[in-house]
Amino acid sequence: VNRKEFLKKSATYGAGLGVSLSLVGLISGGNGYYQRPPGANLDDNFFLTQCIRCGKCSNACPYDVINMASFVHGKNAGTPYLDVRKNPCLLCNDIPCIPACPTDALDHELTNSHEIRMGVAVITDRDACLALRGIRCEACYRSCPLIDKAIKIELSHNKNTDKHAIFEPVIIKDECTGCGICVNACVLEETCIEVLPLIPTPEDRYYFNFGV
Ligand code: SF4
Ligand code: SF4
Ligand code: SF4
Repeated sequence: VNRKEFLKKSATYGAGLGVSLSLVGLISGGNGYYQRPPGANLDDNFFLTQCIRCGKCSNACPYDVINMASFVHGKNAGTPYLDVRKNPCLLCNDIPCIPACPTDALDHELTNSHEIRMGVAVITDRDACLALRGIRCEACYRSCPLIDKAIKIELSHNKNTDKHAIFEPVIIKDECTGCGICVNACVLEETCIEVLPLIPTPEDRYYFNFGV
C-alpha cells in the first residue's frame, strides 16, 4: 500500500479520525459546498445517486486533487470532492478522471477540458480583495488558464483617490470551468475568491449578495 492509497483508506474508513475531523472543519468552515470532479452532474442529489464511492476518479487523477470524503461526512461519505484552495484541478487535456468512472456520475461525453463546469469563481469577500481596494494585484486573473475568456479585468474610477483606477477581476460565468486555479493563486491568507455551485440554493448567500 503506497502513501496515497494509505491516506485515502484512512480518510474513507476512519482510521485517521483526526484527519477526518479536520477535513469536516475545512469543508463546513468554508462555504459548505462539496465541489465535485469534472463531469459531475450539476444536481448534486443526482450525483449522490449515481456515484458508487469507488474512488476510481481519484486514483486516475495524476495530480491527486480529488479527495474522498470520510465517514463523518454523512450522506457525502465516500464521495469525491475537491479542495481547490489547496489543490485546484489542472484541467488535463484528456480529463482522465472521467473515463475512469464506471457509472454515469461523471459525464463521459465531456472531452474538452475547457467545457468543464465544476462551479463558478466568485469574489466572495469584496472588502478584502486587493484589486477592489485599488491595489494592482490581479493574481487570480493572471493565473487563469482561460485568461481574458473566463476572467477579465474591468477598469473603473477609484472614488477614494482622484488619480487611480480600480482594476477589477470579473468572472464570466458561462466560461469559467470552476477549476479553482484562481482560488489557489489568491495572495491573501484567507482567500477572497471561491468556487461556488452553478445551481444556487437558498443557503448560497453570496449569489444573492453579488447577483451572480
Ligand atoms: S481534469 Fe485532471 S487535474 Fe482535474 S480532476 Fe481530472 S484528472 Fe485531476
Ligand atoms: S469514479 Fe465515479 S462512481 Fe467512482 S467515486 Fe468517482 S464519481 Fe463516484
Ligand atoms: S475557476 Fe478561476 S482560474 Fe478556473 S476558469 Fe474560472 S476564473 Fe479561471
